[in-house]
Amino acid sequence: MPLPSTSREWHLIARPEGWPDPERDFALREAEIREPAEGQILVRNQYLSVDPYMRGRMSAAKSYVEPYALDKPMLGGAVGQVVSSRAEGFAEGDHVLHHFGWREYAVLDAKSAVPVDPGLAPLSAYLGVLGMTGLTAYAGLLRVAEFKEGDTVFVSGAAGAVGSQVGQIARLKGASRVIGSAGSADKVRLLTEEYGFDAAFDYKDGPVREQLAQAAPDGIDVYFDNVGGEHLEAAISAIRLHGRIAVCGMISQYNATEPTPAPRNLAQIIGKRFRMEGLLVGDHYDLQPKFVAEVSGWVRSGELKYRETSVSGIENAADAFLGMLRGANTGKMLVTLGD
Ligand code: NAP
Repeated sequence: MPLPSTSREWHLIARPEGWPDPERDFALREAEIREPAEGQILVRNQYLSVDPYMRGRMSAAKSYVEPYALDKPMLGGAVGQVVSSRAEGFAEGDHVLHHFGWREYAVLDAKSAVPVDPGLAPLSAYLGVLGMTGLTAYAGLLRVAEFKEGDTVFVSGAAGAVGSQVGQIARLKGASRVIGSAGSADKVRLLTEEYGFDAAFDYKDGPVREQLAQAAPDGIDVYFDNVGGEHLEAAISAIRLHGRIAVCGMISQYNATEPTPAPRNLAQIIGKRFRMEGLLVGDHYDLQPKFVAEVSGWVRSGELKYRETSVSGIENAADAFLGMLRGANTGKMLVTLGD
């Protein structure tokens, strides 16, 4: 296939206040495709990842990752095929995982690309179940929350990429009870009927504290937080003596325009001596080989199931991102650009 001379890429053109407005904040622009320099590869992207953390990078606030630059292509996970290589060890036709998403074609230093094998797993899996979100679930539950056999585990955002894997890993590792919350009746059904959760509820149906008390009448040992706010407060009320809370994300607050209140019942940390620890996946890449070996085994045997929601076409990437923030996805949200 002859190479086009230009590639379309999404630029951040204004820093969103509250919910991003695609018209005001993002622009799909054309850029010339340049030849790779020595040590570089040119990649035709096939799958782009859209992730909640990207909302943070759209803001200029100081954080653990650099803000996106204005009027430059945004960054994010992507998998694609090498179409031209000037780097040792990379040949035309190879597939790679890299961080130059939000665009159709990327020129990058080969040392920042990770080879992936479409014979071992579908390419999209390297962005989800066997990729960054999968490792987040694995490391967050097993290392940060110090999961132990027999624990009762509660996870929010449970039908999403990270959450659906947290609940299933807990089940496979011998949790005595796994409870999930999600934002629709269909998602709740998926958790109990397909993913083997013992109980699940729709957080939009009523106060989280009441629904969690019903689902976990004896309390919980571990809370894996993807949502923050009311969910975190409810989990603090339900957590038992020496429980553990892994704080992975607080998606309910990412578009907030005012500072959000802390959990009003945080003082319970004293009497219950529970531990609450933040988690960043980047700290846990040493677990990658163990994670891939264990999770790919479960995927192959059918013991761990996963879903993906994909939106087709680079022109729809901003909508895919916003849709994910609103809960339009079940499992990993992806943009597919064609094989
Ligand atoms: P995801 O769960 O696949 O997608 C986001 C989901 O969040 C949506 O589908 C939606 O599902 C839910 N949501 C949106 N607004 C909500 C609200 N106000 N209350 C409750 N749920 C809400 O995304 P993901 O990639 O797996 O990420 C999940 C969480 O993990 C995010 O908080 C993310 O920032 C965090 N994360 C952290 C790290 C790290 O290193 N710390 C790495 C990866 C991800 P519903 O339909 O159920 O509302």
